[in-house]
Amino acid sequence: MATVSEGTRADSVTAIRAARAAFDQGDWPRTPERERGALLLRAADLMVRDKAAFARAEALDTGKRLLEAEYDIDEVVSCFRYYGGVAGTDAGRVIDTGRHDAISRVVHEPVGVCALITPWNYPLMQTSWKVAPALLAGNTFVLKPSELTPSTAILLMRVLEEAGLPAGVANLVLGAGAEVGAVLAQDPDVDLVSFTGGLATGRTVMAAAAQSVKRVALELGGKNPNIVFADADFETAVDLALTAVFLHSGQVCSAGARLIVQDELHDRFVDEVVRRANLIRLGGPFDELTETGTLISAAHLAKVTSYVEGGLAEGAVLRCGGNQAREGALANGFFFQPTVLDDCHTGMRVVQEESFGPVMTVERFTDEDDAVRIANDTKYGLAGAVWTSDAGKAQRVAGRLRHGTIWINDYHPYVPQAEWGGFKQSGVGRELGQAGLAEYRETKHIWQNTRPEPQHWFGESLSRQSPLPTTEESSR
Ligand code: NAD
Repeated sequence: MATVSEGTRADSVTAIRAARAAFDQGDWPRTPERERGALLLRAADLMVRDKAAFARAEALDTGKRLLEAEYDIDEVVSCFRYYGGVAGTDAGRVIDTGRHDAISRVVHEPVGVCALITPWNYPLMQTSWKVAPALLAGNTFVLKPSELTPSTAILLMRVLEEAGLPAGVANLVLGAGAEVGAVLAQDPDVDLVSFTGGLATGRTVMAAAAQSVKRVALELGGKNPNIVFADADFETAVDLALTAVFLHSGQVCSAGARLIVQDELHDRFVDEVVRRANLIRLGGPFDELTETGTLISAAHLAKVTSYVEGGLAEGAVLRCGGNQAREGALANGFFFQPTVLDDCHTGMRVVQEESFGPVMTVERFTDEDDAVRIANDTKYGLAGAVWTSDAGKAQRVAGRLRHGTIWINDYHPYVPQAEWGGFKQSGVGRELGQAGLAEYRETKHIWQNTRPEPQHWFGESLSRQSPLPTTEESSR
């Protein structure tokens, strides 16, 4: 497909020094926010112009359907436009000091040099959630995309340059996480690390960042419950239960991989899910008949396979799929059959851990309390959904789920105006929305005394005391 340079630890250090110099001596942090926002809007326009090239590169890198890659680029453009649009709308706060002789303001400033480390499943989208707010806030950055999917990060850097970003503000290093990524997480010249990826890597990044007390934002994995009550709209709930878990072959952090279905609906619902899962067409990104694509790598195929084998050993019942897909040309790739494992429960690893493949586990519940208890019985807390035609029940359950995004009678939509992120071990901090910008801002309080005059806290009290004793007096 392409050849890219593999960076070294020394390249990471060079990139950090460039970002540091651009932050400490360059104009970008002091450029008016509206101008920074205008640059984001120009970059968005350039990505619209180059959308075909971006989408093609993303589809080739990830193996996802071209149509899906095109949607992803639309989302990237929306994110840049959202942050470009909020530029200049929040200058901080003026505080009522209760005094006539003092002005107090709370203002936003950039954090500094940001290390942005991103995964392979939504390469440019996850990058845009970091790059757009980081730039708007006036930071400089070093971006480290996944070594499996570097192409669109390279295209983005060209676009930022064409949009007029000053040299040194945006830096890109390509290479292995344990090499170039590790340096970014640990170097004291980096002020903030924003990481999206797996839980184990997130822990490593957080520990490395602790040495220099960096600001840390983590978007980690999920094992997301999709709760279906018996009174749900059957057709829509089945249709979206499939999309929830099989979109992008399950390589989605918010995938609804845990179907949690009410007892009385279970048999009919799961039968229909299985029937349709068997019909899903796998294929390459440019085949118009393809509904979902390949897994990212041979190593990931092996991981997904082992989770399914483990689930079966734990007592799950295989209803469909379960293996690598090998029909015809599929044998040349890392395709995995859409898989449904029934009779699962929260004691199983396949329910608790992220397989990150097209693997749905099915659990059953009796009533509302039972559904909430099962759905919350996980160390993760990224997203989840509830399906019911009872509006009150939907709100009650949504309110009790310990997950960062809840869909009611839907699955997957999000908007850049609304925060995204995880409860519990799904992460720290939020991306998108106002909170997604706040991650990249320092808060400073500026106090000004408008009528400075001495307070005599010390001098006054001394002058009221009796004179200091003489040497003669003190020797007595
Ligand atoms: P990963 O943790 O393997 O890698 C993520 C990034 O970290 C890559 O760029 C990698 O090179 C880098 N990295 C690896 N070791 C590192 C180290 N020691 N120091 C610094 N950087 C290092 O994750 P992945 O397999 O690329 O992505 C899949 C994971 O990402 C899944 O767990 C998924 O749930 C998660 N994810 C979460 C969200 C979210 O919004 N919460 C979004 C997308 C993906």
